[in-house]
Amino acid sequence: MRVLLTGGAGYIGSHTALVLLEQGHDVVVVDDLSNGNRIALDRVEELTGRSVTFVQADLTNTTATRVTLANTNFDAVVHFAGLKAVGESVEQPVRYYRTNLASTLTLLDIMAERQINTLVFSSSATVYGEPQTPLVAETHHTGVGLTNPYGWSKYMNEQIITDAAVARPDMSVVLLRYFNPVGAHPSGRIGEDPAGIPNNLLPFIAQVAVGRRDKLSVFGDDYDTPDGTGVRDYIHVMDLAEGHVAALNYASCGVQTYNLGSGVGTSVLEAVRAFEAVSNRPVPYQISPRRSGDLATVVADPRLAQEKLKWQTTRTFADACRDAWNWQSQNPAGYGETVRVVIGSPAATVERTLDDKAISTR
Ligand code: UDP
Repeated sequence: MRVLLTGGAGYIGSHTALVLLEQGHDVVVVDDLSNGNRIALDRVEELTGRSVTFVQADLTNTTATRVTLANTNFDAVVHFAGLKAVGESVEQPVRYYRTNLASTLTLLDIMAERQINTLVFSSSATVYGEPQTPLVAETHHTGVGLTNPYGWSKYMNEQIITDAAVARPDMSVVLLRYFNPVGAHPSGRIGEDPAGIPNNLLPFIAQVAVGRRDKLSVFGDDYDTPDGTGVRDYIHVMDLAEGHVAALNYASCGVQTYNLGSGVGTSVLEAVRAFEAVSNRPVPYQISPRRSGDLATVVADPRLAQEKLKWQTTRTFADACRDAWNWQSQNPAGYGETVRVVIGSPAATVERTLDDKAISTR
């Protein structure tokens, strides 16, 4: 298959690109690089010995995307592109709805025009709102009590894509509801590189362990959980990437929906201890107030994907911590930072990207 990955230069997209290439598929990435990084794709090429076709386009611009993709062929699409910071989505709801919904509409238009029928969509466990059962199954209600525009945009996208599939019965759609993706490729060459201060737990812990931040704030220790801190289902990004390939392999006419999670819950304090053990570094923390909109426990019932997609997680949370640490310690500045190097007159100013190696040898 020749698979188009929207947002393929991002965290989950780059790991999925790698697994697809390793399994003999061809990969085309379309990304506006607003959050993804071209270096991630260079490293995917280096790790697999295969090349990725890269197209830079902003999917919210339908005409420009149509023109940019005019000469690029593909048979199936995995749609990762979108904004994903929950807190930011509360501050900038219109931007989040525009980006996350318009990109899907563009994609559906282009797929219909070109008679491309297979679509895998990056959804999120956030569509379940507050879980009413200890393990959340796909049959749990969605769209009830969602607390932020990011979550609503995932819910709305599921609806839009489902309606599109009803109107085009040849479509094969798989909606994948991710739990908490963590970890990195075991080589340490690709991983999660959040812009600015990380919102998510594991990248924050990793940056504390490597010395980039002083301490972790643990958001609440009075939840109804064994140690009082929030419990989540962390899934290794390589397991998640393999879940997308399984979804492409098992896609069939109509819409299927699967949780991609491990079924195992880990508390914030357990995560801190696991990371300290693999990194052999202390992770200082302080107990802080609860973060608004946070839930006590969110853990997947992963059985449907096991049964239908013949997919299940094979990596533990400790594996994810080890791989996240390997990535973080080899790339303390992520994929690097852009600096302006002034040569001669201002007219000759060139901008170049220094990767982490260059930064550490300066
Ligand atoms: N968390 C925390 N400190 C942080 C970031 C997260 O204590 O700096 C907690 C958060 O309250 C939740 C868990 O870690 O219980 C996972 O948070 P994350 O933002 O990674 O995922 P989500 O809440 O979206 O599931």
